[in-house]
Amino acid sequence: MDLHGKKVLVVGLARTGMATLEFLKEKGSIVSASESRPEEEMKEVLQELRRMSVSMEWGGHTAENFLRQDLIVLSPGVNPALEPVRKALAKGVQVISEVELAYHFIRIPIIAVTGTNGKTTTTLLIGEMLKDEGKRVGICGNVGEPLILFVEGKDRWETLVVEVSSFQLEGIREFRPGCSILLNITEDHLDRYPRYEDYIGAKLRIFKNQGMGDTAILNRDDPVVMRHEGKVRAKKFFFSLKERVEEGAFSNGESILLRLNGAEEAYSLSRLPLQGIHNVENMMAAIIAARLFGSSKETVERVLHRFKGLEHRLEFVREVGGVRYYNDSKGTNVGSVVKSLQSFEGPVILIAGGKDKHTDLLPLREWVRSRVRRMILIGEAKERMVRELGPLTDTVMAGSLEEAVLLAHRSAKQGEVVLLSPACSSFDMFKDYQERGKVFKEVVQRLNTKFEARNPGEASQQGSIRNDIK
Ligand code: ADP
Repeated sequence: MDLHGKKVLVVGLARTGMATLEFLKEKGSIVSASESRPEEEMKEVLQELRRMSVSMEWGGHTAENFLRQDLIVLSPGVNPALEPVRKALAKGVQVISEVELAYHFIRIPIIAVTGTNGKTTTTLLIGEMLKDEGKRVGICGNVGEPLILFVEGKDRWETLVVEVSSFQLEGIREFRPGCSILLNITEDHLDRYPRYEDYIGAKLRIFKNQGMGDTAILNRDDPVVMRHEGKVRAKKFFFSLKERVEEGAFSNGESILLRLNGAEEAYSLSRLPLQGIHNVENMMAAIIAARLFGSSKETVERVLHRFKGLEHRLEFVREVGGVRYYNDSKGTNVGSVVKSLQSFEGPVILIAGGKDKHTDLLPLREWVRSRVRRMILIGEAKERMVRELGPLTDTVMAGSLEEAVLLAHRSAKQGEVVLLSPACSSFDMFKDYQERGKVFKEVVQRLNTKFEARNPGEASQQGSIRNDIK
């Protein structure tokens, strides 16, 4: 890709956008940038932009600016359906994502991870497993550094593990990972995609350029993934919680069994810090990838025994009077909340709601009915959630997250779980999901012990997470 002397526009100026500008500058492009936020909110980057003499468009994006370019590079959070992007595409301007740009300058194997849920956890697991084997592995994408920082000339790396979102995949043309992982596809982001099928199509692009010699790791239990599995040309490995697979991984609740080239090996699930059935799926996908890319069984086991879950993902906060509190603020869609509920035997007091993504709540019904003793709803989506899920359990609404926690605390009985897993994004009430999770944890930390567990061991057993589906 020859960038010298080309007019290149970078859209979105967070960390990735800034790194992309720097890269393009080095390549001799005539760079400019377009940012939706106003200049006053971006003080921290102004000096840097001046140093690179970037011409700027602040506070929104105009078609006029986009149409002047030879190439447009979208940062990860930028929606490719933006009006000026569509106009530029229609006029033949090349539009790509930062992942695609970086790919043209990367000569080492890439393991790419996508899916509606579990991307960050799985990417980090694989990264750790390879790193612990002594491999020079870069962990990139949303979770680490932007991919553009791992380009040619830096032979510090031998493999890259990259988390890719649907937006980023929409902007690829030639991106071809040696290994693509599709963890699951459930409804999400219908606030950004006009149709669910478009979101599915974006995710499937991860396999688009793969061919013989590449590998694909797929969730055998996911009906949407399996509906499209026939289109994948790479060598396929499956993982499943429900059935044996020929090549790949499956689980019997006690162990993960890995089958590669006809040989089978077992990884015990007992006493692993990473809990929950969805994490068994993430571990299966990670084990397949790590073993294919050179980690030994011992290294994989060592990492599994040490890898604690991430903050805001089914994170245990505290036990108060025999009630266990879990922060799953990153549970921002229906699929992840289903998995979180499946991970407890119940009864659960569920705190949910937030900014509505207008996705179908149907998959939640069975689990609300069977696992949730009380549901406390907050945020913009609460009325719809009350209408569609309220009759299935004892349901109340709260005016704030703090009030919701207090209501939960007042009604929780020993042995129960209080779970914040919103099925919605946070932007109606918080800056982001991290802030929402922090507020939840702060309120939980301030709760007074209402009563002491008569038998704390027993209470802990009841409210603990499971690794199999029942
Ligand atoms: P992502 O990077 O795709 O958002 P995370 O690892 O950050 O994924 O997890 C996001 C949310 O999804 C958390 O609530 C977590 O508990 C849940 N989750 C993680 N892995 C899975 C999975 N494989 N299936 C369903 N939900 C999952």
